[in-house]
Amino acid sequence: MPTSNTKGGIPIASEIISIGTELLLGNILNTNASYLSRKLAEHGLDLYYITSVGDNPERLINTIKEARQRSKIIITTGGLGPTSDDITREAVAKAFNVPLKTSPTMVKQIEDFFHQRGKTAPECNKKQAQYPEGGRLLINPMGTAPGFMIEDSACTLFALPGVPGEMKAIFEDKVSPELQRYQKNNIIHSRLLRVFGLGESQVESILHDIISSQTNPTIAPMAQTGEVILRITCKEKTKEKAELLIRDLQEKIQARIGNYIYGYDDDTLETVTADILMKRGKTISTAESCTGGLLAHRLTNIPGSSSFYYGGIVAYSNDLKERVLGVKKETLRKFGAVSEEVAVEMVRGLLKIYPADLALSITGIAGPGGGTTEKQVGHICIAYKTIDEEISTAVKLFKDRMQNKEAAANHALHLILNYFKKEDA
Ligand code: ATP
Ligand code: MG
Repeated sequence: MPTSNTKGGIPIASEIISIGTELLLGNILNTNASYLSRKLAEHGLDLYYITSVGDNPERLINTIKEARQRSKIIITTGGLGPTSDDITREAVAKAFNVPLKTSPTMVKQIEDFFHQRGKTAPECNKKQAQYPEGGRLLINPMGTAPGFMIEDSACTLFALPGVPGEMKAIFEDKVSPELQRYQKNNIIHSRLLRVFGLGESQVESILHDIISSQTNPTIAPMAQTGEVILRITCKEKTKEKAELLIRDLQEKIQARIGNYIYGYDDDTLETVTADILMKRGKTISTAESCTGGLLAHRLTNIPGSSSFYYGGIVAYSNDLKERVLGVKKETLRKFGAVSEEVAVEMVRGLLKIYPADLALSITGIAGPGGGTTEKQVGHICIAYKTIDEEISTAVKLFKDRMQNKEAAANHALHLILNYFKKEDA
């Protein structure tokens, strides 16, 4: 089965050039490239390169020339403003070996724009009415600066502004319809399976034969803080066909690791946990030490959280653990604040304050300091208590403070989720 989008038998390669020195200095994230990558996939076009290049004429011209030799479709973003560091027009014109042209209609529009605001258009702004000869302007529904496109026998280039809102507006309005010409009946459709409780290498080895034998759909595992995401990607003539193939493969995967799959696509541990709590009409409360309220924050990010989340206590100091949650001095002394014993006393105390269906506590060593040979950084204890169960567990997480907080909250959410799933069985 052909898996590449082809025109005349040659795969239609596309590439993105992100222009702006601020990208290379690490001042901004290249969200434009992520957006365009997703869009090109939706159009069934193969994206082979994403290049970031600074506002340097020579390097930019060379980058465009190189792209012209290997890609049928090039999308650039940035460098279309009126200032002297905005050099995309000139660079594209040079790479295509054509002069710049000025659109009198656009000059008039720019003059009118300023005139309506009681100002005279600065000369530099008129630069935005220029485009390489042979091309055409792509009107910007969000601002004055238009994009442009130019096509020759080698490739088609779309130049879009850097400001994300304007870039997206022109893409949707002008570029997307143009790309349909290349969309030789193929779309790329993906589904994410969200796995918790297995590491990336465990997932790979359990699914090894399935992963290595797949060509369409393909499966790619990606590790994130404490979870693994399996991306199934399919290229087909219609979304329906792709969904069917993805479903077949998903069933094979589910038969092996179904117990560890907690959600799909945009699901998160908190959204699926909230969902099950709302469906069951259950309530929970939390007592957090090392996560400092992160779990409460993630739960209350869900609209409607007041229906299932009673509230929580950030019991960071031992003093508060004792005074508010009734953790015994003796337990703290004997086992230390980071212990399953303390975590259990925290949930017992919490349930006395409010009888939620489930009370959960977290105490741990987030790092970088505070570790001992016995209990190292990343040692996290979690307990929960319900009417019929009192469970505590200790997990060994990471070396990094923020990762530990995030992963501890993930483990806690997963315990809550599993408890209410089990209730169902
Ligand atoms: P302007 O008229 O604002 O100068 P422009 O088309 O020249 O627009 P740039 O100057 O390159 O665009 O970028 C303007 C702003 O857009 C940047 O300061 C940055 O905030 C944002 N931006 C640029 N490129 C990207 C990118 N690849 N991803 C996300 N944001 C970006
Ligand atoms: Mg600019």
